[in-house]
Amino acid sequence: MTAAPARLRIDRAALTANWRALRDRAAVACGAAVKADGYGLGAVEVVRTLAAAGCRDFFVATWHEAEALAGLGVPVSVLHGVRDEDMPAAMSGIARPVLNTPIQVARWKAAGGGACDVMVDTGMNRLGVSPDEVRTGLLEGLSIDTLMSHLACADQDSPMNAAQRSRFAALQGVTTARRMSLANSAAIARGRDYAFDLVRPGLALYGGVPCDALAGAIAQVVTPEAQILQRRTVRAGETVGYNATWTATTDTEVAIINLGYADGYFRGFSDRGSAAGGTLPVIGRVSMDLVALDVSAAAALAEGDWVAIDFDLRAAAGISGMSQYELLTGLGSRVERCWQ
Ligand SMILES: *Cc1c(COP(=O)(O)O)cnc(C)c1O
Repeated sequence: MTAAPARLRIDRAALTANWRALRDRAAVACGAAVKADGYGLGAVEVVRTLAAAGCRDFFVATWHEAEALAGLGVPVSVLHGVRDEDMPAAMSGIARPVLNTPIQVARWKAAGGGACDVMVDTGMNRLGVSPDEVRTGLLEGLSIDTLMSHLACADQDSPMNAAQRSRFAALQGVTTARRMSLANSAAIARGRDYAFDLVRPGLALYGGVPCDALAGAIAQVVTPEAQILQRRTVRAGETVGYNATWTATTDTEVAIINLGYADGYFRGFSDRGSAAGGTLPVIGRVSMDLVALDVSAAAALAEGDWVAIDFDLRAAAGISGMSQYELLTGLGSRVERCWQ
């Protein structure tokens, strides 16, 4: 196949280092959330990399995602549990369901399903059975590997964190679950109290920094790169791009690169993004397939050359108005994933 004119450079060593840093901070077993195709990096390669480092717990959202990992020989949990439609895949044993509702629990019991995980809702009111349902015996008869819950506000200082933590801790010993798990990336930074037996980071593995406490501990993993399609001189007074939002105040060297919002370089980067360590500012609107850079600082850059887009996730989220999660999962399929 023809090489794509845009690629995502993925730093395998940084991914592994981030997993180790999170595991060491939590000081308990450390899994990995690899839903949404490994947050856009490619779940199969993420799993291969982290399994080689010793990771033994992987989390996806759906059975379709679990099927993509079958054959890698690693334990996978499916966060959305089991619908009727999922039962053939679930009974085939490729992964464990995370049961979220009394109906899912009944479905799993009726089918004589084996090991499972269970999500308890401790206050987020998204997914999970209630602590009362757990106390009144809903889970009796299940073979539970991991009892888990999820924090609504892990990335901010909120009284909800301690409240959810204590509701969860109160369930210790109430079920036959082998392990308890509460913490995503941000919750790992809240301290050992939040770690229980297993932590489940996603974002921070991939270079996201959800809170100040993790700044400095997490390395950048992904860098989009794009090829220059045309270099031109834009004369003073001329404009660049859709709706002519950018006007040259002086003769300006401009490079048009093979990247746009259809690739996940969203319109929020218009006039605000940059490449090559801040030396090449984005000018004008980001188009579907193209971005214009002011390359006055780079006399040697020519048609066909590659430029690296500035993509420190925290900074990129700040300037684009997107979340770090959206920036990762929005990276498009035209951008070739290149593991290094
Ligand atoms: C996505 C997810 C995680 C990982 O969260 P991050 O914020 O990306 O670290 C952990 N647990 C559950 C239940 C999730 O849905």
